[in-house]
Amino acid sequence: MRRVVIAEMKHETNTFSSVPTPLSRFARGRGMPPEGREAYEAYKGTGSGLGALIDLCEERGAEFTIPVAASAWPSGPVEDAAFEYICDKICAEVRKGCDAILLDLHGAMVTQSREDGEGELLRRIRAIAPDVPIGVALDMHTNLYPAMVDLSTVIAGYQTYPHIDNYETGMRAGRPIFDLLDGKARPVMVWGNRPMLPHVMRQSSLDEPNKGLQARCIQMEKQGALAATLFVGFPHADIREAGLSVVMVTDGDRELAEKYRDELLDRAWSQREAFVYHIDPLAESLARAKKLTEGPVVLLDHYDNAASGGTQDTMTVLGGIIEAGLENVAAFAIHDPAAVQEMIKAGVGATVTLPLGGKFDMPTIKTRGEPLTVTGKVKLISDGTYRNLGPASKGMLMDMGPTVVLDTGKVEIVVISRHQEPNDLNCFLSLGIDPTRKNYLMLKSRVHWRAGFAPIIKETVECAGTGVCTSDYSVLDFQHVRRPVYPLDRINEA
Ligand SMILES: [Zn+2]
Repeated sequence: MRRVVIAEMKHETNTFSSVPTPLSRFARGRGMPPEGREAYEAYKGTGSGLGALIDLCEERGAEFTIPVAASAWPSGPVEDAAFEYICDKICAEVRKGCDAILLDLHGAMVTQSREDGEGELLRRIRAIAPDVPIGVALDMHTNLYPAMVDLSTVIAGYQTYPHIDNYETGMRAGRPIFDLLDGKARPVMVWGNRPMLPHVMRQSSLDEPNKGLQARCIQMEKQGALAATLFVGFPHADIREAGLSVVMVTDGDRELAEKYRDELLDRAWSQREAFVYHIDPLAESLARAKKLTEGPVVLLDHYDNAASGGTQDTMTVLGGIIEAGLENVAAFAIHDPAAVQEMIKAGVGATVTLPLGGKFDMPTIKTRGEPLTVTGKVKLISDGTYRNLGPASKGMLMDMGPTVVLDTGKVEIVVISRHQEPNDLNCFLSLGIDPTRKNYLMLKSRVHWRAGFAPIIKETVECAGTGVCTSDYSVLDFQHVRRPVYPLDRINEA
């Protein structure tokens, strides 16, 4: 029987973020990142990449082990000790011998010592297993390094943003590896990039230009490619290879792979201006929001997105909402474990006045954390767990840690203890808040919120607040990214 090692190591690193990334962040409320039977039970039957790799091994009758399933919310560089722990777990399993290795990785992991976490993991695996086929599933926000391609056999990345094809991507990365073992395919992989840093706010696959680019990738897979991927890249990483790239896998046809790759890269480059986001001043956004009569209206606090390394505790937008007197608002969420504990101590029904949020300083953007004093009633206390309804990460257990709903009378503020981007209706429903009945929903997110909320909302107002996910590249002190790079450098523009 074939023996396969499957594992997950996922982290999107925002090198401008002051949120630390120790091993415990990969444990998500457990003692340690799950492995073996515990990992199987956490992922089997879910819409995750690892869920797909499990199903694939079972379908193909392969014996498999899961040495570690480590996934952490985006934040600052991964602590070396955490990276070593995860790599050691995977390498120890590979050392026992296997016929294939299937990995669900992110592609934008930066550690304290390395710009390319994924490349380093693959380097260590290759030192043990030089010839074993390796299939890798990656996030669309991959900042691709040559080592990732040189040291793996097949790479497939998400084709949706919001990411709702994690499962399909796991399958696209894994199937060609089994076909290779069966003698039915000979994967050939090429890659390339363009010097461009698309703004995250312009990266959604629901809008052009990425919509058309991803549709073309999907079409290429119907026209001979085994896996066609265009990575938009993750710009909040000051590392050499940050930015847009393409990986193309075909069945033995290098010429076709290169042709498809060049077509995608040329098309993306020619549309580089459409990837630039134009920022509205916050006061204008809030004034516009106040005039809207039909809700729910999303007030998008996009500078402070926990799923891009934001501290999720900047109070600029929420403060503006309170000051503007907007009514019937639900806000998701403010990360403030200390405030949660204080409110739990006060108890349900108690009225509290406390400094909320602003616990993290953000030295890279020369901003100190500024709490906002808020008065309200402790409406609800929760353990903060729920399962995603989907389409994003359907069935996965989310764990915000101890959670409180603080009701100011006009605004219901969700205060959480572990980072959680609002990408699913259950983040409100699990706390007894019906988002469809609210005039306004303040969401700390950029694109993923659309997975769960797009069907219920009437309008979106993008609110430029405070945070390390700013779309204003001029406040980010880029030192290491290759230059020139668009739009930091206005290449080929007058
Ligand atoms: Zn992503």
